[in-house]
Amino acid sequence: MINTLLICGGGGSEHEVSLRTADFIEEQLAESEDIDLMRVEMDASGCLTDKDGRVYHIFYDGKIRDEAGSAWDVDYVIPAIHGYPGETGDLQSQLEMFGIPYFGSAPEASKICFNKIKTKMWLSALGIDNTPYLFLHSLEAEELDKAHAALEAWEAVFIKASNQGSSVGCFKVTRREDLHGTIEEAFTLSPYVLIEKALNARELEVAVYTFGEELIATLPGEVRAPSDTFYTYKEKYATGSRAETFIEAEGLNKEQQAWIRDVSIRTFKALKLKDLSRIDFFLTDEGELYLNEVNTFPGMTPKSMFPKMMENHGHNFTEYLTGLIRSSQSD
Ligand code: ADP
Ligand code: MG
Ligand code: MG
Repeated sequence: MINTLLICGGGGSEHEVSLRTADFIEEQLAESEDIDLMRVEMDASGCLTDKDGRVYHIFYDGKIRDEAGSAWDVDYVIPAIHGYPGETGDLQSQLEMFGIPYFGSAPEASKICFNKIKTKMWLSALGIDNTPYLFLHSLEAEELDKAHAALEAWEAVFIKASNQGSSVGCFKVTRREDLHGTIEEAFTLSPYVLIEKALNARELEVAVYTFGEELIATLPGEVRAPSDTFYTYKEKYATGSRAETFIEAEGLNKEQQAWIRDVSIRTFKALKLKDLSRIDFFLTDEGELYLNEVNTFPGMTPKSMFPKMMENHGHNFTEYLTGLIRSSQSD
């Protein structure tokens, strides 16, 4: 038996989303004969509990113990946490220290991709087209002047907390009078703030993952938010969400598909991602393509695109994950 620990929840704003991702993963491994799955939920203070409320600690000897002292060897960890401390790479740093193999990217790659500003610095350095941007480190007048100039030049901007996902801390601003307050709000969520040119664009998503020795980039799928808003938290997850998803985006020409595929693979390799990611793009009304963001641990809720795109590509998620877990034991 391979003792696999599924850790979900976490201290970020995407705690609830993570529980749904964990439900999906649990279902996928339920029938496995050689993988014994144990699920624990992490609360905002880092405390791990199982469904009966029993508290656990992970120790450097690669064991998890409950408070009564019963120990369980951990052979593999699935850090199914969106945001802190999973997608940010912090939990993975601990697992590296303990020598426990885990699903997904290593700490460094996670840190780069979860921080929207670092991602952009990397993409720009790699020569990969991304949305025009600037970033702010404070609310000082000079910094605010930069923001005002950007709004004037671009007419509409996106203001983003540097370290959030699921559209938390992500705001569209078109009016000068809203700029200061919105930047202030973003600063309550992160120490740095990103400002981007707001695009009129289609949103494309690609599942990029390793299957055996192969690195796969699926055909782009598409998410379409209603025209009166953008792809907000509510449109992503709430019941009654009006967003539409398409497993394959329609009407892309061969060149566009090839560009997206090439950039997806190049990004996965250059940023040294591991196992999985969902890389998102914008296709503007003028036909320009930009990489928007790299998600190292994409959502796997019933509404999420990653597992669907993988299945559409012809790969079964259960086979994929069990394959990774098994091969981690033979390395
Ligand atoms: P998150 O990691 O929270 O998903 P994103 O950068 O993907 O952050 O932004 C969330 C959503 O906001 C996007 O899916 C899109 O709908 C909208 N958005 C973000 N940036 C832009 C932009 N520059 N132009 C147009 N829409 C944007
Ligand atoms: Mg994201
Ligand atoms: Mg996004």
